[in-house]
Amino acid sequence: MPGVEHLPWHQPLWEALSGRAWQAHAYLLHGPAGSGKRELAERFAAWLLCSQPGPQDACGSCASCKLYRAASHPDLFILQPEEPGKAILIGHVRELVAAIQQTAQQGGRKVIILEPAEVMTIESANALLKSLEEPGAGTVFLLLSDQPSFLLPTIKSRCVLQACPLPPAGLAAQWLAGKLPELEAGQRDMLLQLAGGSPLRALEYAQDQLLQQRSEVVEGVKQLLKRQSSPGDLAARWAKLPPVLLLEWFAGWSQAVLRYQLTQDDADLGLADMQPVLKYISGFVQADALLQLHDWILERRVKLLRRAPLRQDLLLESLLGQWLALVQRT
Ligand SMILES: [Zn+2]
Repeated sequence: MPGVEHLPWHQPLWEALSGRAWQAHAYLLHGPAGSGKRELAERFAAWLLCSQPGPQDACGSCASCKLYRAASHPDLFILQPEEPGKAILIGHVRELVAAIQQTAQQGGRKVIILEPAEVMTIESANALLKSLEEPGAGTVFLLLSDQPSFLLPTIKSRCVLQACPLPPAGLAAQWLAGKLPELEAGQRDMLLQLAGGSPLRALEYAQDQLLQQRSEVVEGVKQLLKRQSSPGDLAARWAKLPPVLLLEWFAGWSQAVLRYQLTQDDADLGLADMQPVLKYISGFVQADALLQLHDWILERRVKLLRRAPLRQDLLLESLLGQWLALVQRT
């Protein structure tokens, strides 16, 4: 159906979801960010709501499909935080539960897409439990999560779990080439590597000018090492960059140095842009101190993902100060 994206790596998942003799009333689609869970959920929702679905897809022409395409289907409910990064609050869940107790307006199913499921507060999750268990005839919940380990076990146990993995590298590269034909293959490859293999994230990164941001960060790290910039300067300059991504880059660089110290293999140094720097510092940096910093970075990353109130400027300044202390030749 037009407007609902079919991602080629979803085909086996689609067959698993649509090929069942009966439909469960709650699914948890889980997998790495950028694996396309939302696209899969939307395709599945359109198909569940369609009054004459084919094996592969919603028909695209029935009244339900027309409403779906116009983003005004009265029996499709989307529950997500008011702003990205905020929690799904109990008030939102109560409103949803009240709404789905009404009869389906199109006379068929009701579908709820809840994303990301892990940002429900404990109270919200508890308010949802009863509906998840006994949702009423024809109601199907699609919960989406990048971080299923943050979900209450009582929520998970009420859902059919469907893993949504990233595509194989060849398929990812092929899909991205179709979306970004104007880029060179090397640039697309770098975007894919930065996106951890997710072509959807790589596409977003391209739209957000991430390659440019990355080169600014790499340049900043070089300036830091040459004492041309201080941790405070850089933290201020990087204030608009996503902090989780910065932490992931520094964690990746720490790992690359640790690996290279063991193997002396250039392939362990990661992306080309930081290879000379990492190779240089791997000659003298202390592995135990670097491991400590690596753990500190991962801990802060989890805190950010759990939306702990951390001040980004202080976090970055501390990270850069520790990085500098570590790589300073004594
Ligand atoms: Zn239809």
